Amino acid sequence: MTSYPQQFLDRAKEFTGNEFDKFIASLSEPPPVSIRMNPFKSIGEFSTEEKIPWSKEGKYLSARPSFTFDPLFHAGSYYVQDASSQFLEEPFLQLKKLLDSPCKILDLCAAPGGKSTHLLSLMNKEDLLVSNEVVPARNSILRQNIIKWGCANVIVTQNEPSDFNRLKGFFDVVLVDAPCSGEGLFRKDKDAIDEWSPEIVYKCSTRQNEILSYAYETLAPGGFLIYSTCTFEEEENDSQVNNLIQKFGLKKIDIENSYEGILTKLNGLAFFPHRIRGEGFYISLLQKESGEKYRIKNEKITGVKNNYKVILEEFLENPNEFYPVFKEGRLFAILNEHKQWFNVLSDNLYIRHAGINLGEIKGEDFIPSESVALSNYLRKDFSYIDFNEKQAIEYLKGGTPEITGASKGWVIARFQTHALGWLKNLGNRINNYYPKPWRIKSDKSI
Ligand code: SAM
Repeated sequence: MTSYPQQFLDRAKEFTGNEFDKFIASLSEPPPVSIRMNPFKSIGEFSTEEKIPWSKEGKYLSARPSFTFDPLFHAGSYYVQDASSQFLEEPFLQLKKLLDSPCKILDLCAAPGGKSTHLLSLMNKEDLLVSNEVVPARNSILRQNIIKWGCANVIVTQNEPSDFNRLKGFFDVVLVDAPCSGEGLFRKDKDAIDEWSPEIVYKCSTRQNEILSYAYETLAPGGFLIYSTCTFEEEENDSQVNNLIQKFGLKKIDIENSYEGILTKLNGLAFFPHRIRGEGFYISLLQKESGEKYRIKNEKITGVKNNYKVILEEFLENPNEFYPVFKEGRLFAILNEHKQWFNVLSDNLYIRHAGINLGEIKGEDFIPSESVALSNYLRKDFSYIDFNEKQAIEYLKGGTPEITGASKGWVIARFQTHALGWLKNLGNRINNYYPKPWRIKSDKSI
């Protein structure tokens, strides 16, 4: 039987009232397993599993499969994500109706990428997502998940929220899925219980307050702020939003809630594990009604170097939709309509990934990146080899399965028609180019 800090139990009595016993009992139940399918990489698996009512692509799984040993998981065909968190879809679709496209969306605290990949599934292709994570190791996991989702309308940055002060009034939507005291994760992550204290709650609320003030500044007039946490603490939820309304005069927007069990609170919606099938979660939607909009200087777009154009044509299905940008030794393909936004962001932020990373020029050679292999824009007639499950796992572990009939040069390794990464066939030998940090580390075989 798990024991909880007395001060947490005292607070829980306050926020759950006469539902306290049910709430505490629910924390000992196994958390439901849920995933969200990638609409750009559709697969037949999980088609009969139960739908999450508020998420078009969300599913509850009846059993927990080994995600590590599922090649389709590595191909980015789905993302493992708590069902409550997938409620982001409701306020986002609600505000999307009120926004002109193309628009600029910022996910300020984005790693590991659950909400960013969800937004990419819901946005229009012309819209741009800036997915930001300040912690370097977490930023690398974020990039991996973004790359696997395969979209081109995204830029990953690694900045402090205060850096966004250089872009006052720039974004049409800002999502702050804030670092929090994590009470909503108690049944999934036992360490969160040991780390919890009233001081942590206070520290988190102070930090959230600070992050939100930068989020407010970078939001354009008329733009929307979505605030969410995975805690039950009033101080980090409704009261935090109250401060924001008092301080900046933001307008609260009621999120449509037609679902039994989800609690409508003063400033947002609250999710409790004894009321719904998901973890603890809170979400609020606000609008900035006035302020100054960021002015983009009209820059002349320069011509494209021919040798870059050739690379775009070699790898991309519709190369004319993209503009090549060479940055820190890497060649990125940016959607044409995002060129000016990219310039502004690149002048002000630390960009770690943009659009599709095509690869690096090394001497005479061009080494394609995993980003183009897993992208939804890879040329459809690129050479590939289809692996069975055993071969795919061997490849994902860094091995080179025995294959025959592959054409020479760069070849896509696939599983059930979905790209996993690159192989290079040298004729006498085949090299595995699956990135080392992405490889399956477990010795187990399937
Ligand atoms: N949105 C993510 C998702 O859905 O997968 C989860 C985000 S998690 C709740 C909060 C993130 O904020 C963490 O990745 C953490 O590294 C980051 N973070 C921590 N301190 C921060 C700070 N001072 N400013 C901004 N982000 C911070």
